Amino acid sequence: MNLHWLNNSRNNLGKTLTQSLDDCRLKIILEQSPAVIYTCRAYGDMGATYISENIRHQLGYEPSECIDDSRFWARKVHPEDRGRATENVTKLFKTGSLIHEYRFQHKDGTYRWMHDELRLLRDSNEKPIEIVGSWMDITDRKFAELELLAQKDHLKYISEHDFLTGLPNRIVFQERLKQAVARANRSGKQVALLFLDLDLFKKLNDTLGHHIGDKLLCRVAKRLQARLRAIDTIARLGGDEFVFVAEDISEIKQVACIAQKILDCLEQPFPIKDQICYVSASIGISLYTSPADDIERLQKRADVAMYSAKKKGRNNFQFYSEEMDAQARELLLLENDLRRALENEQLVLHYQPQVDLSSGQIIGLEALVRWQHPDKGQIPPDDFIPLAEETGLIVPIGTWVLRTACAFAQTLWEAGIPPLRMSVNISMRQFKAQDFPELVSQVLRETGLEPQCLELEITESIAMENASETISRLVTLKKMGVRLAIDDFGKGHSSLSHLKHLPITTLKIDKGFVRDILTDQYDFAIVEAIQTLAKSLDLEVVAEGIETQEQKQLLCRLGCTFGQGFLFSRPLPPEDILSLCRLEKPSVDLF
Ligand code: C2E
Ligand code: MG
Ligand code: MG
Repeated sequence: MNLHWLNNSRNNLGKTLTQSLDDCRLKIILEQSPAVIYTCRAYGDMGATYISENIRHQLGYEPSECIDDSRFWARKVHPEDRGRATENVTKLFKTGSLIHEYRFQHKDGTYRWMHDELRLLRDSNEKPIEIVGSWMDITDRKFAELELLAQKDHLKYISEHDFLTGLPNRIVFQERLKQAVARANRSGKQVALLFLDLDLFKKLNDTLGHHIGDKLLCRVAKRLQARLRAIDTIARLGGDEFVFVAEDISEIKQVACIAQKILDCLEQPFPIKDQICYVSASIGISLYTSPADDIERLQKRADVAMYSAKKKGRNNFQFYSEEMDAQARELLLLENDLRRALENEQLVLHYQPQVDLSSGQIIGLEALVRWQHPDKGQIPPDDFIPLAEETGLIVPIGTWVLRTACAFAQTLWEAGIPPLRMSVNISMRQFKAQDFPELVSQVLRETGLEPQCLELEITESIAMENASETISRLVTLKKMGVRLAIDDFGKGHSSLSHLKHLPITTLKIDKGFVRDILTDQYDFAIVEAIQTLAKSLDLEVVAEGIETQEQKQLLCRLGCTFGQGFLFSRPLPPEDILSLCRLEKPSVDLF
């Protein structure tokens, strides 16, 4: 019996020893595991029944703080993850196992990302009795993942959006256009492509500065986007160019309505900083009507139609027509011809006298360029100067004009004509060219013309550009002794307070005001105001476009001293001007 007892005892002892050894092993395994191991009731309050010591390292809690506190888990899960995590645990009762991730509050108050793996244990009656789980802090990995995702999202966003306005960019636009065309092929409906270019945006940008220009583009984009139907796409292609893809079109009237809405929405001015900016747009429209049209052609046609809208006076929309293509081709040919016009010596200068209104004596000449086209005859500057500006050809052309006009003034002087003032028109692009002041001084040196005999006519938009670079450039030219005039004054938006800081010598009243001065009380009032302004700023005034004695007399009465116009002489070729000057004996007090 003793033996039996002993054996029994040995067995029991062996079992106990094995049991404690197992417990011991288990404890070591549990404590050495990098995870937090826990068990909790799978019924009732679902409170924790065991939690490994590791929770202290991972989440800063003592195991005793968590055990039997049925609200502990729910309280500490991040509020944003709570709903999802609770739902997952509910599912565990169906699936038997679960892996999920959520944020859990560390004792120090911060949230850690936890990877939680759970198993549901059931008794022999399939009744849930316990949940066993392991918890791992995966915060570092999660952050790296999220960062990567954010980076990927960001890169995707950048590659698809315009950096300035946040609108879809050219790549997305082309993709959407492709999809729209594919849908149209299936549905039998039409797609319209509207190509929008803001009117005179470049001028506005140059006048008010790029900072305001950029802001304006963003505001325009927002306004356009707000007017869009949900199915349409708007994108910015760059600069001041926007495109719309309008889908599901069954009638051309619908497209006209969209285009008009776009124009209307730009009517209200945009207050930006202390400026009120007015913009309008020209819109070209092409329609995808048959599978024979390809996307490229569609875009080209909208572009051609947009140019036609510009030509028609801006602030309007035009549907593409084949006739437009012919005009566009014509323009392209003209551009090619213009490129060769200088070297082929097809450009000539005519000179128009400027006179003293009281004595009628010539005081100066304005150089006006003409293009003797071999097939088209004489082309006036208004028909090719804008093209020359757009293509940059104005820079070499302008240099040639300056050199030729100065040389001619010197020739007149050498021919015994008393010194005259020579006025030369300078375009924005030319004025802004890096070496412009240097070019002027070089031409004066080369030709021997006195600087005070040269007057540079700049546009109102150059003069009103409030950039320090522009003002310092004007000051440099003034210091060289050259005279500076603002051409077509009154037509643009001049700031009178800005004007007084400019080293300007002359205001040339735009011929538009002179034309109706006898009949239009507003034009009369404007000319009178310009005259008063010039007097107080000690500026000379030249009235342009005088065609009748009555206009001249009225201008004289208003105190205007100088004038230019067909009444005195049309612009004439150099040889005629030489004869006229010999006859009329110009006189000017240049100093
Ligand atoms: P602008 O500088 O204001 O020149 C005056 C324009 O008015 C000239 O037109 C002249 O022929 C016209 N004009 C003169 N008197 C009268 C008149 O009594 N009645 C009417 N109706 N018109 C008159 P043009 O020669 O056709 O030149 C047009 C514009 O082209 C010029 O306006 C100027 O802005 C530009 N331009 C001409 N030559 C050059 C040039 O060499 N360089 C640049 N950048 N622009 C030029
Ligand atoms: Mg002029
Ligand atoms: Mg003018």
